[in-house]
This record gives sequence, C-alpha cells and structure tokens, in this order.
Amino acid sequence: MNCAICSTEIVPSNDSEEHIIPASVGGKLKKRGVLCRSCNSNAGEKWDSELARQLNFFSVVFDVRRDRGPAPAEKVQTSSGGELLIHPGKPMTAVRPVFKSSPVAGGISYEIQARSIDEARVLLQQLARKHPALDVEAVLAGAQVNNDLLDGYLHTSTDFAGELAGRSIVKSALCWAALQGVSGTSCPEALEYLTNPTAEPCFGFINEPDPVLNRPIGVPLHCVAVSSLGTAGQLLGYVEFFGWRRTVVQLARAYSGPTVHASHFIDPRTGELLELDVDLCFDHAMVASIFDYKHCLPDQVTSSAAPVIETMLEKLRKQEADRANAEMVERAFRECGASEGEMLTEEHFRKIAASMAAQFVEYQSKLSRR
Ligand SMILES: [Zn+2]
Repeated sequence: MNCAICSTEIVPSNDSEEHIIPASVGGKLKKRGVLCRSCNSNAGEKWDSELARQLNFFSVVFDVRRDRGPAPAEKVQTSSGGELLIHPGKPMTAVRPVFKSSPVAGGISYEIQARSIDEARVLLQQLARKHPALDVEAVLAGAQVNNDLLDGYLHTSTDFAGELAGRSIVKSALCWAALQGVSGTSCPEALEYLTNPTAEPCFGFINEPDPVLNRPIGVPLHCVAVSSLGTAGQLLGYVEFFGWRRTVVQLARAYSGPTVHASHFIDPRTGELLELDVDLCFDHAMVASIFDYKHCLPDQVTSSAAPVIETMLEKLRKQEADRANAEMVERAFRECGASEGEMLTEEHFRKIAASMAAQFVEYQSKLSRR
C-alpha cells in the first residue's frame, strides 16, 4: 500500500498508526498502512493539534474518552479580565447569553453571559434575525460560565477549520477513503489541498440539509464518511464533529475509481460506535453552493447546534446539582457535632436534617436570584 498523501510505498520501517478521526477529540479507529510516518507526524503536529485546540471546549465539557486520558483543561477569559479553567467532568452551571460583539483583527469577538436555556434560546433567535453575519455557532460554543466562580461572561475562541484544521478534516476523509480501497491519487482535489499550502480549500460547511440520516437528537457525535453514490461523478467525503461542525469534502471532482459508500460514527463521550448512514447525493452545483457558505447560514447553524448545546447544558446542570448535594451533605455532617468515628445519636441526625433543609433553601434562593 502507498501513503494516501505522498504516495510513498509503505513498508514496515515507515509505517504508522493513523487515527482516522484524531485521537485528541476522542477518535478511536486507528489503522496502519494508510499514512507514512512522516505524513502522519506532520499532520498530527500541524493540523490535528489545531483542530483539537479549536474543539477543546467541547472535548472538555463532554469529557470525551481519549486514549491518552481526559482532554486538557480549557482556559477561558472572563469579562473582568481574569481567566478560568474549565476541567473535564467538573461542575459548571447553566448560562444566560447576553451577547456582545466587537471587531478584532481578523474577525469579530463575541462575549456571552447567560442564566437559563430559555433565555438563551430567545436571545439566539433575536440574534439570528438581527445579525445575519454573526458566527452563531461560536457564540454558542462560548456560552458556558461557572456561576460559582464569577458573575461576568466568558470569551472563547470563535474559529473553526481554517488552513490547518481544515487540512486535518480533509485528511480524515482521505484516510477513510483509503480504508475503502480508494488510492490517494484518485482524490486529486484532496491531494492538491493537502500538499500545496496555497491551494483553495476543497471543503465547505453544511448544516442544512442534514447529511446524517435518522440523526439521534442531541448526540455530540463524530462522523467520517465517503461516497460516490449520486454525486454526479464526484467522490465526496463528510466529516462531522460534536454533532454540529459539519463539513463536506470534495475528494475528487471527477472520480473514476470503484463505487464507494461507507461511514463511521462514534459517540466520543463513551467511545461507542453508532450505526448510522449519510446521504451525500450532492451534484456539482450543490457542492459549489456548499463551498459558497449557502448551507451554513446562522439560523441553520443554530438549529444544528441547539440540541447539542442543550445536551451540554443538561450535563452541566446535573454536575452542578451533584456538586451542591455532596457539599451540603459534607457540611451537615461536619457541623452536627459528632466526632470522627463516633456513633451518630438521634440529636446528630436531627441536626443533620435541619442543616440539610436550611442549606437546600439557601441554595434554591441563590439559584433563583441568578
Ligand atoms: Zn506520506
């Protein structure tokens, strides 16, 4: 077999284990004989690492199962000029988005404060109407605040894809095609993009129509797929992260290899594989329209992201409730007057119950003041 990128013959001395979906975001499928060691390490260092950085917020809040352990804590800026670390699996609270935007070099910076999902939904709907140019998915991605630590809002990175992470996406599609028996040389558009630093991107974003058939609602799934069925002679790839970052890759504009249609889905929270399929029946005009940002309009992105964001908020609310419960129990026992190892008396139990009740009322009142 030859390397899917550089066509070098792969022999034991230059073989490498390639993760088809990067391991850093929870990809599990790894294969030898797809990329040579040099291409693999080059792609990992330059492309996959940038993709992982862009998606790290989601890797953290969904606490993805990675071979190398939990995702690194994500640093976010607070409105008061401070910084916060969000750790995988640790409590965070629900948020109320108050959107602020300001121009920065190379784009727009968004800031958010939020309190409840209903408020978030209303504000997002207003925003989509008022600001058609707004990068809604990025705002949604940043709308996480630990209310126990600050009263301000958070500022997080808004970028996705771009010239480095975009190449990681195209590489995933190319490697998945290679596993289906498609040689790299049958994918000239992908190869041109991966090997020529100034080449035009061969991918675009698609939120509507949804290429995933029978999508499970709110699942932050990853997918890589390839198809030449109903594509008007093209070989198309599809790469999705966290259920809403959805990319169509034109691997070949004029494909003459064997017919292929294959997809791989994983729930990165558990590592579980999902039995799903994609529909990539897009002709040339449709692909051109996807590349022209016609299928990732703000309201389309919002409706793709909303169910996943809701799953995320649900998880964060549960984490916070668990944290608050554990804290109340711990405090009630500490203050009941019993010493370590002592048998608890009825009086101790009465104090514990009273303390729990008082703390619960206090906690509820704190929540309702937010
Ligand atoms: Zn190579």
